[in-house]
Amino acid sequence: MKRALVCGAGGFIGSHLVEKLKLEGYWVRGVDLKMPEFSLTMADSFAIADLRDPENCKWVLDGYFDEVYQLAADMGGAGYIFTGEHDADVMHNSATINLNIANLAAKYKVGKLFYSSSACIYPAYNQVDPNNPKCSEDSAYPAAPDSDYGWEKLFSERMYLAYARNYGLNIRIARFHNIFGPEGTWCGGKEKAPAAICRKVAEAQDGGEIEIWGDGEQTRSFLYIDECLEGIHRLMQSNFIGPVNIGSEEMVTINQLADMAMRIAGKKLSIRHIEGPLGVRGRNSDNNLIKERLNWAPSKSLEEGLRKTYDWIGEQLRK
Ligand code: NAD
Repeated sequence: MKRALVCGAGGFIGSHLVEKLKLEGYWVRGVDLKMPEFSLTMADSFAIADLRDPENCKWVLDGYFDEVYQLAADMGGAGYIFTGEHDADVMHNSATINLNIANLAAKYKVGKLFYSSSACIYPAYNQVDPNNPKCSEDSAYPAAPDSDYGWEKLFSERMYLAYARNYGLNIRIARFHNIFGPEGTWCGGKEKAPAAICRKVAEAQDGGEIEIWGDGEQTRSFLYIDECLEGIHRLMQSNFIGPVNIGSEEMVTINQLADMAMRIAGKKLSIRHIEGPLGVRGRNSDNNLIKERLNWAPSKSLEEGLRKTYDWIGEQLRK
């Protein structure tokens, strides 16, 4: 039986990943500061531990692991990573986790290590035109991420690549683009646009109003969780190290995303645009490399995933 360690197993993507690995027949250990919020973990063993402490990393990595998935990070949506208020914590906490894991994964000779980087590493100067953002993997340099969250991801990408070069660590790196779906944070300040908009629409009375940060003309793409997990699986099975984008190419404005949520809800609402943290003006996944190297790319529609997410958030509100 293959053994996998999922760091960040109490988080959104990590808890779904544990479930998928269990269904594939792995023995799974999860580790996180917290248990998953919205479901029971399916992990065979779950450690509540702070991965900033190398002693904790040592004992969770103890015993051979065929695969380690490093998803633990101090992160949240625009309200958390683009205000500047959490930059020191984001950089310190996530970098410390990655320094520990890279070093010890090499020492413990893990079979393969997956690292979740982010579209936030791409240079701000290529994401000024909302209709024509450039996020091909080779456009990452000269580096100019628009957030310290993005700088930490870029540093850690480079560190894992250096460990691969110097210590033979067998790595895979993906750059996720806005992953969403049920059991993601949907309130409290760390939620991202799809969940925040679904919540606002679900809470509003028909004919009422919702608030959106900025003019709503900033563009993004959003990838449903199941396709993110499929991309991780395919990357891990392949010989390609990456970094590779795992994202959707269905780019929409935030206003269009809100219209879609209203259509799903069957509500007509007006949008009030207010000031708020925004991030870059335009961003979209570029899937040429993933198609070329993995012979696959996400294909499901945004509306399909948003419908499932809207229904789930509606259920949470009724609880
Ligand atoms: P998440 O916040 O739900 O999960 C991250 C988990 O890491 C949390 O459960 C958190 O408690 C845990 N963690 C934080 N500090 C820790 C520590 N010191 N010790 C142990 N655990 C700690 O986020 P997610 O959406 O599941 O994202 C998973 C990974 O994917 C992250 O690395 C994130 O940066 C990356 N990513 C996510 C997205 C997205 O849209 N969700 C996009 C790009 C990259």
